[in-house]
Amino acid sequence: MSGNKARQDAIEAVRHYEAPAAVFTSTEAPGEIFGENVFTKAVMQKRLPKPVFKSVMATIEHSEPLDPTVADVVAVVMKDWAMEKGATHYAHVFYPLTHLTAEKHDSFFEPGSDGNAIAEFAGKTLTQGEPDASSFPNGGLRATFEARGYTGWDVTSPAYILENPNGNTLCIPTVFVSMTGEALDNKTPLLRSQQAMAKQAARVLHLFGHEHPDAVVSFAGAEQEYFLIDRSFFLSRPDLLNSGRTLFGAKPPKGQEFDDHYFGAIPERVLAFMMDCERDLFKLGIPAKTRHNEVAPGQFELAPMFERSNVAADHQQLLMTTLKRVAQKHGMECLFHEKPFAGINGSGKHVNFSLGNSTQGNLLLPGDTPHENAQFLVFCAAVIRSVHKYGSLLRASVASATNDHRLGANEAPPAIISIFLGDQLADVFEQISKGGATTSKTKGSLEIGVDTLPVLPTDPGDRNRTSPFAFTGNRFEFRAPGSLQSIAGPMTTINTILAEALDFIATELETNVADGVEFNAAVQTVLEKIINDHGAVVFNDDGYADEWQTEAAERGLPNLKTTLDALPELITEDSMELFSRYGVFNHREMHSRYEIALEQYILSVHVEAALTLEMATTIIAPAAVRYQTELALNVSSLTAIGQDADTTTLDEVSASLKALRAGIATLRSELAQEEADTEEKRAEHAQKSLLPAMVALRAAADTLEGLVADDLWPLPTYQEMLFIL
Ligand code: ADP
Ligand code: MG
Repeated sequence: MSGNKARQDAIEAVRHYEAPAAVFTSTEAPGEIFGENVFTKAVMQKRLPKPVFKSVMATIEHSEPLDPTVADVVAVVMKDWAMEKGATHYAHVFYPLTHLTAEKHDSFFEPGSDGNAIAEFAGKTLTQGEPDASSFPNGGLRATFEARGYTGWDVTSPAYILENPNGNTLCIPTVFVSMTGEALDNKTPLLRSQQAMAKQAARVLHLFGHEHPDAVVSFAGAEQEYFLIDRSFFLSRPDLLNSGRTLFGAKPPKGQEFDDHYFGAIPERVLAFMMDCERDLFKLGIPAKTRHNEVAPGQFELAPMFERSNVAADHQQLLMTTLKRVAQKHGMECLFHEKPFAGINGSGKHVNFSLGNSTQGNLLLPGDTPHENAQFLVFCAAVIRSVHKYGSLLRASVASATNDHRLGANEAPPAIISIFLGDQLADVFEQISKGGATTSKTKGSLEIGVDTLPVLPTDPGDRNRTSPFAFTGNRFEFRAPGSLQSIAGPMTTINTILAEALDFIATELETNVADGVEFNAAVQTVLEKIINDHGAVVFNDDGYADEWQTEAAERGLPNLKTTLDALPELITEDSMELFSRYGVFNHREMHSRYEIALEQYILSVHVEAALTLEMATTIIAPAAVRYQTELALNVSSLTAIGQDADTTTLDEVSASLKALRAGIATLRSELAQEEADTEEKRAEHAQKSLLPAMVALRAAADTLEGLVADDLWPLPTYQEMLFIL
């Protein structure tokens, strides 16, 4: 028989798929299960001695340092709670630099002296773990002789129970650091950056007359886009299985042109999956809020409600794990790659963020009194300054081999980092730049002088989906992050560059006020300076337009098109100085991040190249050869009996097969090239030689897909993967 068995089996499997039974019992209200598996504040309040509870809360809610003596008490209470929930093990959960989640599991039970197992979980076990760090990337931070890494309890992110049919696990969110205290994870720098930003924000709030402001934190709400495909198809595509994207596949006759998927009805099977996911997420205390279809067929989005950025980052990781697990339960595979299907809309993870605290609320809310406006405009100006000054770092924070396929592909923002403010706000800043805002566009002319500011609407007004960094009424939305990545990196960058801008503003204001300048005048001066120095980053038009590329260059905005253009930004003198000044990364840590990102890039492209070669050689070429043989036999037997034979198709197949073989030869020789002596050169080879060789090979294969008889074609097609759910 032909070589299409895997594909036919996959189609058969989909045909006979049976949905799992409903998960919601009719009596269960979502509100009842929310946070059921979380060691929540309410649980702590009920179970912890009052002073301990107060102390822990001071750390969680007001960023006070953790009192080490409370750990023992919390540990015992946490263990009892977890065991009541059926937990037999606990795990320190951490986020190494691979965008994955790592867990180190241990049993609660330790053999007692009499041979009986006793449940032990001391404060020390809660606060510190010691996973073997040698299997995680460290970018030279840790020589192998000091392979140790430590995990440390992050009190600010709630512990939770992960359910499994074979027993439950208490999961404790932790940071992951080397023996010397250097960060080996995504969380440590996020917490450090949060602290740095809070310190500078407090200075600004003091200047605005708030005597005892609560610690300012950044909030993040990430919109997760993903694809769902039937798992049978996934399993018969080695490319999806091993690299997360299709390395082959002709464009389907019907793509997303009809726009019939976006906000269309959600397929029943997908809805069942979504409900199942939401239930699990609710139990984990993750507020999954919206769900809808996305632009491409088979593409969906899930946006949890915003939370403190460090908790949001943890929850975001947990959300991805949950989506993947539940999808499998429903016979589907959840794809997080930024571009699983060429020519089809990719997936991003828009990061919505704001700053705020319990005393002043959201600092990015325009508000409706001039005084609040001034404060809002100052924070908004801080964003403008930071994005202009450090756009390259924002770009670097979303750089990866996978996101390279999406950014700038006319569905995602270009690699140029600009800010969309909306007409109204842009107008206010325009006026400020000319000496002071006296009018507000919709409200008409307000004679309020240079030192006070107009009333601003909270309505975001128009939307601009082409901007990488857009103000949306009470928050900014950073749209460049990829669907696969952790939001910790982008949020760390945002916090840090905001710390710098707020530091600058606070210093200017403090100096001016000390010199006797009236406060409002000082505010106007600093706003004017910022908009004049950094206004070039504001762009309210179409970010997809070709003219923007030219205009942005004229404005001096960097356009770092690929990962390899962006990554060196991490190790410029300026960047390293910035991150070390605010205590987020020391120089060694910056270098390690750079090296790890580079290494990940190289690995990722190499895996894809090897897979491309293997699939072309062992799956695609054989199918084409079979068809070629069939055609040739047909031609020769017809010719033998003096009949007209169709040689055109045979010629076409032969020509494409020749191109495929040439592509295979090129890619093989590129892959066999002697390893370059530096990582930079290896990365460049991956980008400049491997990727183009893969593209050329794919073109020949995709042409063959349009020629070879369907019953001989071995790989599930785009049409099947995208439309059969
Ligand atoms: P849209 O698709 O229109 O951009 P969604 O409703 O899909 O918006 O997602 C918006 C995201 O922004 C949600 O995660 C939401 O919780 C988050 N968000 C809303 N307000 C804020 C805020 N003040 N700070 C941070 N994130 C916010
Ligand atoms: Mg959205």
